[in-house]
Amino acid sequence: MLEKQLEKYFSFSQFRSGQKEIIESILEKKDVVALMPTGGGKSLCYQLPAILSENTTVIISPLIALMKDQVDSLAARGIPATFINSSLEFPEMEKRLQDIRLGKTKIVYIAPERFANISFRKLFSTLEISLFAVDEAHCVSQWGHDFRPDYLEIGKYIKTLPKRPSVAAFTATATPEVKDDIIARLDLQDPRIFIRGFDRPNIKFFAQANLTPTQRLDEVLRIIKSLDGSGIVYSLSRKNAEDIARYLQKNNISAQAYHAGMNASRREKIQNDFMENRFKVIVATVAFGMGVDKADIRYVIHCGMPGSLEGYYQEAGRAGRDGEKSFCILLHGKRDVTTHKYFIRIDRQNMMAQGKSYGEISRVLDIKYSRLEKMIDYATAKKCRRKIILEYFNDPDMEEKEENCKGCDVCLNWKKIEDKKSKDRKSKIRRKDELSETVMETVRLYGQGYPPDKIAKIRSLGASTIFNHLVLWYLGGGDFPIEKFVSSQEEKQILEVLPDLGSPHILRAIKDQLPEDISYEKIRLIIAKRQKNRL
Ligand code: ADP
Ligand code: MG
Repeated sequence: MLEKQLEKYFSFSQFRSGQKEIIESILEKKDVVALMPTGGGKSLCYQLPAILSENTTVIISPLIALMKDQVDSLAARGIPATFINSSLEFPEMEKRLQDIRLGKTKIVYIAPERFANISFRKLFSTLEISLFAVDEAHCVSQWGHDFRPDYLEIGKYIKTLPKRPSVAAFTATATPEVKDDIIARLDLQDPRIFIRGFDRPNIKFFAQANLTPTQRLDEVLRIIKSLDGSGIVYSLSRKNAEDIARYLQKNNISAQAYHAGMNASRREKIQNDFMENRFKVIVATVAFGMGVDKADIRYVIHCGMPGSLEGYYQEAGRAGRDGEKSFCILLHGKRDVTTHKYFIRIDRQNMMAQGKSYGEISRVLDIKYSRLEKMIDYATAKKCRRKIILEYFNDPDMEEKEENCKGCDVCLNWKKIEDKKSKDRKSKIRRKDELSETVMETVRLYGQGYPPDKIAKIRSLGASTIFNHLVLWYLGGGDFPIEKFVSSQEEKQILEVLPDLGSPHILRAIKDQLPEDISYEKIRLIIAKRQKNRL
């Protein structure tokens, strides 16, 4: 029966592992802590119960950019959702609260800092809330790698409510201290705890040590050249991010830097362009991350080692959310360790300046050092990397795993990613025949009447990717009405400038010969049509 609702509201044919149990518990009004890897599908676990509940669901989410995306994606599915954060003027906020009161809005995303505001709390207290879902709940823990003081206000606020809603907390960080902190600080009542296997079978893990900075740059370039699709390169500093981006650009890779030193509108533009595949590689500091919901990231390369395995796995886990084969590659050196020790010393000085007690300071430092040790272990050990990750997160399915994971450099006895272009080409042709699951997902939504741009929103993919799916489907025999997207006049114009069938074509060169309003998508459709007619 829940499967029916899943199909109805989200057009997914089945639950991912763990989702159903979590949703059932929430519908039974139990408090819940759900630990699931990045890309595991946490949002659905609170969105579906929200849709099925009588009253409003509040979702606490740390990033304003992320809220807007989620609200848009729900709206695209016809689910009334809204958000409240500091970007809104007071009258607009009041109007939104009024809509909630009138039952017009089912789901409200709220930024945690709102709960520090007394007048907001007052207004908000008059609402009937059925569920409080706290996303990225590790932000409540000082032991997490992403602590946000505002998250502490949530627990305090919930305690003041006359009628306590059920509370569900979600995170991809699963160390025991963080989990215990979440339960204590959100004051969860007898929560059901779900630890969903942390393995990501579609991701392959690689690590390489002791490269000089120049070798490292060349390695990044070589890897990117040998892989298809878009990816993220993480760097430890802003300057380094810019240097890498420039180096890639010089070598004809479309790349953009992204870090907190850039202004908000520039960052937003880069994020959108990345989403829409207008360039291939984003070179970023940790500032790029939580708000990113691009499902078809094919690789995450760390140019420099993060300070903890939690941080690493969260960043690396942004690859392959669509379940297709992806790579996570860590390029590190001894210097990275020195850098992190330096960061920890700065933290220590800051804590001293804040007047923290000696006991507390040494406790925090102990944790930071032991995290760093674990990270070094991962980077340098000659042991299955997947296993190190799963052990670290106390993965419940650990025992059932095969000795050889066949998906990390140690298990594959891998030296360097060989230039595997030709091999890939073969598998791509085969894929076209089979039409992958991700293409069929698009086709299902299309069949339900969603236009391509809405499908893009719903699936967290770029619009051009959705068009590619539809073209693949069309070439495989699908019934896609090209004439609805390209007029016969436009078709004629495109055909005039298309090179002969079989000769290589560069889309860009074709587009340059055509009027501005004939998009790449239109050109691709006509190329596909011609190809199909000749088959
Ligand atoms: P998380 O927050 O755990 O990192 P998300 O909630 O962002 O993950 O989900 C990752 C992707 O998986 C999204 O594109 C989402 O639409 C998709 N997804 C979630 N649940 C399912 C499902 N049952 N079937 C297919 N796709 C799903
Ligand atoms: Mg999420």
